[in-house]
Amino acid sequence: MRRHVNERHLPKDAPHAKEDMDLHRRALGVMPGGVNSPVRAWGAVGGTPIYVQRAQGAYLFSEDGHKYIDLVNGWGPALLGHAHPVVVEAVQKAATRGLSWGTTTRQEVEMAERIQSMMPSLEKLRMVNSGTEATMAALRLARAYTRRNKLLKFEGCYHGHADPFLVSAGSGLASTARPTSAGLNPNVVQDTLVVPYNDLRGVQEVFARYPRQIAAVMVEPVAGNMGCVPPKEGFLAGLRSLCTEHDSLLIFDEVMTAFRIAAGGAQAHYQVIPDLTTIGKVVGGGLPVGGYGGRADIMQHISPEGPVYQAGTLSGNPMTMAAGLATLDYLQQHPETYLNIQQIAQSLCNGMQKTLRDLQLPYKVQGVQSMFSLFFTPQKVYNFQDAQQSNTRAFAHYFHEMKKRYIYLPPSAFEANFVSLALTPDMVKQLLDAQHASLQALMVQGIV
Ligand code: PLP
Repeated sequence: MRRHVNERHLPKDAPHAKEDMDLHRRALGVMPGGVNSPVRAWGAVGGTPIYVQRAQGAYLFSEDGHKYIDLVNGWGPALLGHAHPVVVEAVQKAATRGLSWGTTTRQEVEMAERIQSMMPSLEKLRMVNSGTEATMAALRLARAYTRRNKLLKFEGCYHGHADPFLVSAGSGLASTARPTSAGLNPNVVQDTLVVPYNDLRGVQEVFARYPRQIAAVMVEPVAGNMGCVPPKEGFLAGLRSLCTEHDSLLIFDEVMTAFRIAAGGAQAHYQVIPDLTTIGKVVGGGLPVGGYGGRADIMQHISPEGPVYQAGTLSGNPMTMAAGLATLDYLQQHPETYLNIQQIAQSLCNGMQKTLRDLQLPYKVQGVQSMFSLFFTPQKVYNFQDAQQSNTRAFAHYFHEMKKRYIYLPPSAFEANFVSLALTPDMVKQLLDAQHASLQALMVQGIV
């Protein structure tokens, strides 16, 4: 997510190696902000981004010769760690057979069957190339199926960069959604209604205000784009009942959570079954991917079976299928993976919370399974308004203190950290030592 930051409050740039500065100058000359995706520009934390040359296991190796423990993990896909041998081998083998054929392949059938077996609510599914494509298509499908136009989403949830999703709550509950980007089509945006995350009563009110107009409720079942915010008990089940009651479709955007929270995604973890699901990240094993699927009677409306058009030159391409299938194979053959990652993430989060207690700092670590965030705010965070109480200046300084200690965090206070299987107990210790020293440095400087 993008946030407006007062740059005067950001830390001064640390000295950078000449290699990074040269690349950075060149990047700024040829790409907007020097990046292909905005958060990589470090706008929220200041300073010059590191340029990564390669990654292995839990480590990133920068162009200027440093090695960082990585808690971004490609923004989620690298559940098994970077360059996992089974994934690399599968991709190498696939490359020798040709990169893209534009026909249906055995691997696509196997991928769909595999996903279906792990997430049974996806009775039929289609692969695409990004999470954004998946959410766009799921919304179009929901509109066609229900013959309604409105989408209800939650403030602080991110569903990719298509027009209907780039809105935030306006002043009145769900009545005046505000665009969060220039260039959006206002006619599209006005059909998006926004409610605070975890606010079931708000959802009820909006259903009452817009009877038989809401095509779908789209939600991140564990929010990861305002920092990590778990659903309150009963929130997801409540959405399920309200959608059923009002004949609207419930769409779980599991681009971040599918195959990460559990083999069956957040829907298996919380035992709430949506009508449609979007997936991405882990299922591509690190290559560009997205997918959407759900009830067969709804999916049959997708072209060429039905009238809802959606297509893609590279959709289901053999390289992505190979990387994704190798990842899912690994997860199925090693079901203990989830427990292992959860334990390592838990020991990290517990250790971080203990450090905060020891240093008498009132901040909170929140997480679900292998996703977590440290919020620089004393209150528990249930929604975007709560998250915005965070001291973003403190976070920016914390980010740079951790970087000095060779820990790479998401460069924004409102992004989730991702733990991979490659993180060892020794690395957790290194992370906790770095966290302790970084927070102490912030205390000495009077920042926290
Ligand atoms: N949905 C969620 C929950 C996401 O976290 C993201 C990206 O982070 C997207 C959709 C968009 O996916 P992509 O960046 O692949 O377009």
